[in-house]
Order: sequence, then C-alpha cells, then structure tokens
Amino acid sequence: MDQIRIDNLEVYAHHGVYPEENRKGQKFYVNAVLYTDTRKAGQQDDLELSTNYGEVCLFIQDYMTERVCKLLETVAEGLAEAILLQFPKIRKLDLEIRKPNAPIPLPFTSVSIKITRGWHKVFIAFGSNMGDRDTYIANALQSIAEHPLCRTEKVSSVLRTTPYGGQAEGEFLNGVLQIRTLFTPEELLEVLHELEAEAGRQRTVHWGSRTLDLDILFFDDLVMSTEILTIPHVDMQNRDFVLRPLCEIAPYFRHPVTNQTMQQMLENLTEHHVL
Ligand code: ADP
Ligand code: MG
Repeated sequence: MDQIRIDNLEVYAHHGVYPEENRKGQKFYVNAVLYTDTRKAGQQDDLELSTNYGEVCLFIQDYMTERVCKLLETVAEGLAEAILLQFPKIRKLDLEIRKPNAPIPLPFTSVSIKITRGWHKVFIAFGSNMGDRDTYIANALQSIAEHPLCRTEKVSSVLRTTPYGGQAEGEFLNGVLQIRTLFTPEELLEVLHELEAEAGRQRTVHWGSRTLDLDILFFDDLVMSTEILTIPHVDMQNRDFVLRPLCEIAPYFRHPVTNQTMQQMLENLTEHHVL
C-alpha cells in the first residue's frame, strides 16, 4: 500500500513516569507511516482525495500536548487510535515516539516505542432461535454499528434455518455481517460475549438453543488457535447457514487456509451433503 511519511515531528510535551518530567516537559520526536491509497489523489492532483499531512501533524501535536501520560506506550496507543478514527482514509499506521532526553543515567541517543495499528476486516456470524429473535439480532447489530471502534460495512439478509447438531429446538434466524474494527480478535470476542449476555444468553448445552450467538468467522487473513478462539471459525465449512449469507455479501472472499472462495466452499458443502 502507498505511504505518507512524517519524520521526526518535534513536540514539546510532559509525558513521563517522574514528576520532574511532568513539570518541566521535554522534546519528543514522532515518526509516522500512514498507509493509504494515494493513486486517485495523484492522478487528479486533489488534496480532498488524500490525507492532509499538515493536519495530521497538528493533530499529533494537539494530542500529545493536551494530556500527560506516564508511559510512552500509552501515548502511542491512544494517539494511533485517535489518528485512525480522525482520518478515515488511513487504513493502517506505524507510529514511533522517541524520547531523546529520557531520564537514563547513561549515554544514549534516544529511547522509543514503535507500534503498528490499523483497521481489520472481520466477518461475524449471528444467530438466534429463542425468544424475541428479531429484537436480539437487531439490538446486537445496532450496538456493533454504533460502537466507536467498529464500522459496519455489509449485512446479509436473514435466513430461517432448522437447528444444527440436533440439540436445539426452535427455528434459527441466521446471517453474517462484515465490519472494520480496531479491536484485536480477543477484544472483539469479549465484546461479542457481552452482547450475547445482554440478550440473556445462558451457556448450557453446546449447540443448544440460544437467544443470540455471535461468532467470528474471519479476521483479515489471520489464522490462529488458542483455548478461547479459533480463527477462521473451525466449523464454518459445514454450515450452510453461514456460507449462504457469506456468498451473498462476499462471494469472492477467500478462506486463508484452503484458499477457496465462499462460493466454492458452499458448492463443496452442497455437493457432499444432502441438505
Ligand atoms: P458455537 O458458537 O460453536 O455454537 P458457543 O457460542 O457456545 O458455541 O461458543 C463456545 C466458545 O467458543 C466461546 O466461548 C469462544 O471462546 C469459543 N470460540 C472459539 N473460536 C471462536 C470464534 N471464532 N468465534 C466465537 N467464539 C469462538
Ligand atoms: Mg458462538
């Protein structure tokens, strides 16, 4: 991706663990690499189509002088998020904050924190087969859409399906949505669990009836497996009620392990199983 680069922006601010640092302040230097698409702006010579690096520099200066943090980590984390929320054309950024006068009683040039943060493209499956299903789903979709760290991009239509796995009773409503988020996978899972809890979900029987189920299907092209989280979702290739809505909103999206498109995955499923 194209880059807009800011090198050694000097900001006088008061961050530091020691009270002396908070009182006197010191110079900080900021390096930022903003990942964005500059082609249209370049072809049309139009600043509106790009991100104004002058505005970004002023934004960084304001952010760093309007607050006092103990840690460079905190400044970097908050500033990266604030930049990504303020400048919508920036997809990802590398941010380095250097502190050449840090209180270290040894000769050194500077210390710094460098982080990379960005918007992640995520697909989430939703389902409900108990109680006021439409309302549970509508509330969850609204909470996600209104969350400051999430942007809803596409929502599939809602399917009515008979229960899967033989453990649940009522008819299911299922669908998927595509979002952008600044959350990590674990943070997003926590948010989804909170939304399930708000819908009064009780975790009793695996695959049992539920007021609301929210599963992470894909998170960029990430492949991961921990005790609490497997991405891509481990059973999605067997779920018609996940693949059909995925084909509606992202037919050409490829599974990062098998490299198959959603259309191919649905074809495989319908060929091998009588539905
Ligand atoms: P299921 O969704 O398979 O019907 P549950 O909703 O009861 O089952 O989920 C059980 C656990 O699965 C969750 O507590 C969560 O920690 C774990 N899990 C693993 N991978 C994922 C994922 N990709 N999305 C959501 N939950 C996941
Ligand atoms: Mg689940």
